[in-house]
Amino acid sequence: MGLEVNIDHCYSIKDIRKQKGDIYNMLMNTYLKPQIVFEKGDGCYVISKSGEKYLDFSSGIGVNCLGYSHPAILEAMVEGSSLMHLSNLYDTEQDRILADKLVKRTGLDSVFFANSGAEANEGAIKLARKYSFDHYGSGRDEIITLKNSFHGRTITTLSATGQDKFHKFYMPFTAGFSYAEPNHLADLLSLVTEKTCAILIELVQGEGGVFPLEKDYVTQLFNLCQERDILFIVDEVQTGIGRCGQFFVSEEYNVLPDIVTFAKGLGGGMPIGAIVAGKKCKDTFGLSDHGSTFGGNPLACRISNAVVDKLNRDFLISVRENGHYLKESIARLNNKYIKEVRGLGLMLGMELTGVSASDVRNMCLEKQLLILTAGNNTIRLLPPLIVNKSQIDQCINILNEVLLSI
Ligand SMILES: *Cc1c(COP(=O)(O)O)cnc(C)c1O
Repeated sequence: MGLEVNIDHCYSIKDIRKQKGDIYNMLMNTYLKPQIVFEKGDGCYVISKSGEKYLDFSSGIGVNCLGYSHPAILEAMVEGSSLMHLSNLYDTEQDRILADKLVKRTGLDSVFFANSGAEANEGAIKLARKYSFDHYGSGRDEIITLKNSFHGRTITTLSATGQDKFHKFYMPFTAGFSYAEPNHLADLLSLVTEKTCAILIELVQGEGGVFPLEKDYVTQLFNLCQERDILFIVDEVQTGIGRCGQFFVSEEYNVLPDIVTFAKGLGGGMPIGAIVAGKKCKDTFGLSDHGSTFGGNPLACRISNAVVDKLNRDFLISVRENGHYLKESIARLNNKYIKEVRGLGLMLGMELTGVSASDVRNMCLEKQLLILTAGNNTIRLLPPLIVNKSQIDQCINILNEVLLSI
């Protein structure tokens, strides 16, 4: 019990193993975790085993968009419980219903379901290369991504990720990727060759520090892609499903990508990812060209249907309003450690100076507020999209107390 309330440090699994004589934990040592065991969730709060209530401005890394124990999700879980899985060999209707919704909401044309962001991106890369193969033959397979991007943890999506720290140990990585400086058109143009088949970008770089791309730059990239039949792929794994105040952030940028990927918020907590393709590659994958055992799982799709139904016009307006309120409230703190606030909707980055983001995160944890970092000096706020103004005030009060105590 004592360990659960006394959070002086974060411990790695290895520390816990040592402490507990290696008996209790056979997890690989890949995550640093605080010594709190969480048991339940309710709205924007998670509750520890010892009964303490934490305000969650991390949403399971942008996943729990309707918060915890949302009635629509609970209802879908119960309704779907007797047919959790059947496989893609049979029709369970839920995937078709969800695909129709995604097509309507995006203005794109066809959908493939995966189970995670990395898998959706991996599939999008395959889709782009197959499109190019079908139209131009082999060899036109290069993909340009941006520096500071993040696209996932498979060997290929690590390759797509434009950060050197992810290009270690696991060689050989998938070939065919090059990385352009964000918001620098000439740099990207210098990488375009006859072999370029796609450009893959996040419109707001998430893990890289919450950096929205400039609108003009995105328009120019989009036009370049149109002119040269280079597929314009937008990774909306983090920005999509209402996070930035639109159904997907491409709307905010006024571009209709050739391929969009979703995951994180799509299942409201259920693992699911999606590749949504426009006219050009809606039929590029034919029978057996791609597949997944769990992809399109009826329970995941049923829950995702409930999530997507909640994201109506009024809901998205509230995301924009609350995002604006959160951003303004941070700016009003006028604290010397805050260098900048940026982002869209409820995907905000607070860049710090003179203090490390992880120290601030750990101090907030002690005051029962969960927040994220992105890079060494940026706090990332991804509250559930159902957050209200009084919860935002509560978050701001804690942040203020913490920053004033340094
Ligand atoms: C989280 C994330 C991914 C990876 O998603 P997983 O579900 O962890 O595989 C890919 N792209 C972006 C932009 C992300 O934020």
